[in-house]
Amino acid sequence: MPSCFVCGRSRIPLTKLQNIIFQRFSADPKIQEKWFDFFKENGLDVYKITKHSLICSSHFDPSLFITNKYCRTLSKTSVLSIVISKV
Ligand SMILES: [Zn+2]
Repeated sequence: MPSCFVCGRSRIPLTKLQNIIFQRFSADPKIQEKWFDFFKENGLDVYKITKHSLICSSHFDPSLFITNKYCRTLSKTSVLSIVISKV
């Protein structure tokens, strides 16, 4: 089951209910670098990141989300800013 690299939340009915979405790592090296800076600042082991790693939406400022009629997505250039310890 996919889970968040930062806090360990999984995609389960509860997270769906909480409106939490799971975001893949950006393919943009500049964005990736910023994400990695965030992980290092927060003591996360960046060597454990795989191409399947995901980040949940609770680490992003709510203003970064794009909401349309059917779903909520994150802007491609979003950078993490909110630390939530492991659940
Ligand atoms: Zn998370």
